[in-house]
Amino acid sequence: MHETQAKTAQYVLNTYARAPFVLTHGAGMYVYDSEGRCYLDFTSGISVNALGHADPAITAAVAEQIGQLSHICNLYYSAPQADLAERLCTLSFADKVYFANSGTEAVEAAIKFARKYALDTHGPGKTGIVSFTGGFHGRTAGALALTPREKYQAPFRPLMPGVTHAPFNDSAAAEAAIGPDTCAVFVEPVQGEGGIYPASAEFLQTLRAACDRVGALLVFDEIQCGMGRTGTLWAYKQTGVMPDMMTVAKALGGGLPIGATLLSDRVAAVMHPGEHGSTFAGGPVICRVADLVLQRVSDPAMLAHINEMGALLVERLQELNSPHIREVRGRGLMVGVEFDSEVAPLIQAGYRYGLLLINAGPNVLRLLPPLIVGEAHIEEFVNKLQVTLSEAVLS
Ligand SMILES: *Cc1c(COP(=O)(O)O)cnc(C)c1O
Repeated sequence: MHETQAKTAQYVLNTYARAPFVLTHGAGMYVYDSEGRCYLDFTSGISVNALGHADPAITAAVAEQIGQLSHICNLYYSAPQADLAERLCTLSFADKVYFANSGTEAVEAAIKFARKYALDTHGPGKTGIVSFTGGFHGRTAGALALTPREKYQAPFRPLMPGVTHAPFNDSAAAEAAIGPDTCAVFVEPVQGEGGIYPASAEFLQTLRAACDRVGALLVFDEIQCGMGRTGTLWAYKQTGVMPDMMTVAKALGGGLPIGATLLSDRVAAVMHPGEHGSTFAGGPVICRVADLVLQRVSDPAMLAHINEMGALLVERLQELNSPHIREVRGRGLMVGVEFDSEVAPLIQAGYRYGLLLINAGPNVLRLLPPLIVGEAHIEEFVNKLQVTLSEAVLS
C-alpha cells in the first residue's frame, strides 16, 4: 500500500470509497498516479474540471492574483468579484449574484432567499418547499432535506421541516404538490446524481405555471448540468423556461471551490446587509479564475464543440453493441449509459485500462469528460471501454 493510502486510512474520516491508486498530477484530459500510470479522465472530478487539468491560463491567473491580493473578506470591494458577477448576469436570466464556496452552500442560500421573499411578499406561513425524486441538492441540513435519498437522510433526522417530494417529470403530481404554502420549487433541469435524467420542457413549463399561480419561486439547480455541460451555457436555455433563482458551482471554479446563487431583481430586493454571508465566498483568487472559466466556456465555439463531441460520444457508445447496455441518454457532454446490472465492477476494471469512470446510481455509468475533450479522446475512450466491457464480469 502507498503511504498516502495508509495515512488516509488512519487519519481521514472514512466517508468516501476511494480508487486503489494515488493521483499525483494531471495535464489536459489525463491524470497520472504515483506508479506513473496514465488515466483518461471521463469524470472531471464530478463535472468540475471543465478545462481539463493544469490549464496554463488558470495556473497563471491563480499565481498572479494570489501574489497581488488573496483574501480581503466581503467588507471590502473586490474587482474580480464584480467582474464575475457582471459576466454571470450578462450571460443568464439573473440580475444579481450571491457568492458561496460550494454547491451545497449555494442551495442553502437559495432556501433562505426563498423564505425571506415569501415572508416579505406574502407574510408568515408560506415556508413549504417542493423537490423531486432522484434529485440531488447537497448534504447540509437544509439541502439534505431537499435530497430524497433514504440512505443520505435516514441517519440524520429530523431534517428541515416543510419539504415535499414529488415524482420527477410527472406534471400532474407536481401541480398537486405545489400549493399556497409553497415558497419554492427546486429542480435540476438535468438530474446528475439521480442517473442523468433530463427534465422535459413540458414538466418545467408546468412548474413555472404552478409557481406563478401560487406565488412560489422556481429554482433551477444547475450545479452539475450548467456551465456548458449540456451544450448550452445553462441547461434551462434548451427548455425556454426561466427560473427566479439558479444555483451554480462545480465547473464554475475550473477546479477551485466556488458556488453562486443567481437571482432576479424581484427576489434580490428582499435581502439586505447582514442577512446572509460568508467569510471566504467571492474571494479575489477564485473569482478571477471563475471569470476566466466562464469566459472560455461561454464562447460559442466552445459550445459548438461540446455539442459536436457529445453527439460523437453518443454515436460511438450506441455502436458498442453490448447486450448489457440498456440505454444511452443525456445532453451534450453529460451522458448516462444505463446497464442491466451494477456498474461498480466496470469502474474497477476501467482503472486497469487507464479510464477514470463514475456511476450515477447503481446501474448508470456517468460520463462527464472535461469540455476540452477531442475526437481522438472519444475514440480512445470508447476503445478502452469496449475492452473493459469484455473484461468486467457483469452479473
Ligand atoms: C454536486 C451537486 C450539489 C452539491 O454541490 P457541492 O459543491 O458538492 O456542495 C448540489 N446540486 C447538484 C445538482 C449537484 O450535482
